[in-house]
Amino acid sequence: MTMRHLVTGGAGFVGSHLVDRLMAAGEEVICLDNYFTGRKDNIRQWIGHPNFELIRHDVTEPIRLEVDRIWHLACPASPVHYQFNPIKTAKTSFLGTYNMLGLARRVGARLMLASTSEVYGDPEVHPQPESYRGCVNTIGIRSCYDEGKRIAETLCFDYQRMHGVEIRVVRIFNTYGPRMLENDGRVVSNFIVQALRGEPLTLYGDGMQTRSFCYVDDLVEGFLRLMECSHTGPINIGNPGEFTIKQLAELVRDRINPQLDLVYRPLPQDDPMQRQPVIDLAREVLAWEPKVSLQEGLEPTIADFRRRVAPN
Ligand code: NAD
Ligand code: UDP
Repeated sequence: MTMRHLVTGGAGFVGSHLVDRLMAAGEEVICLDNYFTGRKDNIRQWIGHPNFELIRHDVTEPIRLEVDRIWHLACPASPVHYQFNPIKTAKTSFLGTYNMLGLARRVGARLMLASTSEVYGDPEVHPQPESYRGCVNTIGIRSCYDEGKRIAETLCFDYQRMHGVEIRVVRIFNTYGPRMLENDGRVVSNFIVQALRGEPLTLYGDGMQTRSFCYVDDLVEGFLRLMECSHTGPINIGNPGEFTIKQLAELVRDRINPQLDLVYRPLPQDDPMQRQPVIDLAREVLAWEPKVSLQEGLEPTIADFRRRVAPN
């Protein structure tokens, strides 16, 4: 039996890969997006398909739809974009999640919230298990996003406790892959675009801060398993392979143009020094673990950018 799925933020980077998987499985999909950081190009292949509908809508406004599953991804994810209008980002996280939980309650749909490793802030516990409660600055330039996702998680659990809404909460660690915007501003896309243009790669701070990079197909596989399992989460989905930003720069540079320079820029405020998921829970309850190493995942990601980015 097929179900009707609502994917908010479905024209974005991760959302469009999820739409692809659901459509390939023969499900009905409603993609909802306000195109702040999403593009029609990402879901163009499905426009006109009888199982697919596209709605331009902002999740800060309520909407009435009949659906079985809600994948709530709508929210800018790159610091550059979520800091562009931080008040709007906080509204998107709070009101958007509130509206989607209201919809889930009305129609009895199950809702999965795309939360983030940012709920751990600049962590004092390393690596980060789901039980770690985080170290987040409430008043900094990243707070609109970090605190927005924290209150979104809180709303999910209160809707579950008060109204019996079926929720799933996934804490996503840095994810990369084809379809990231050229001006996305996150580190993997920045480095690839800079290298393809023959420009120096910009490292913020000393480049010794770490991140753990998950390939988008692995993430989406984790989403699908979480939605249909009995565990509510929160559950970490990420690749435990941890790299310094300098190591990432060297990997990208060596693949595209080993002659390029690395240049150093000031570290933005509240930039976390380290991040690595503990994925024991995902292994146990979802039988999930990432399959794609950073070295492997960079290949299709670079190939996708090559089609879009012309050398300077
Ligand atoms: P993205 O910016 O590519 O996608 C977000 C999508 O949401 C875009 O299509 C955008 O237009 C849409 N959107 C934003 N505000 C909206 C609003 N008010 N109403 C309707 N649509 C709106 O980002 P992404 O990397 O695909 O991230 C998807 C989700 O996963 C986000 O919720 C993000 O917080 C979460 N996440 C992503 C990562 C990552 O590394 N990619 C890490 C942690 C969490
Ligand atoms: N970063 C960098 N150069 C860039 C973009 C980002 O050195 O051109 C750094 C950034 O300061 C952070 C890390 O890379 O330490 C990851 O940044 P990103 O914005 O991708 O994700 P987040 O900080 O939200 O994990």
